[in-house]
Amino acid sequence: MAVPKKKVSPSRRGMRRSHEALSAPSYHECSNCGELKRPHHVCSHCGHYDGREVVAAERVGTTIRS
Ligand SMILES: [Zn+2]
Repeated sequence: MAVPKKKVSPSRRGMRRSHEALSAPSYHECSNCGELKRPHHVCSHCGHYDGREVVAAERVGTTIRS
């Protein structure tokens, strides 16, 4: 239900916004090359995923970071 802006106290507005913080993206070390990569993503440095090369290493930079 809509509530007039002036009816919401600064305290209550702050309590509502306490859940709106953004979390930092997580990174883990690549098991192949040791570079930091996003979990469940192909490594952007060596192109490996799940212990095997799925994207040619020299193409990774051009295809993913286009
Ligand atoms: Zn890697």
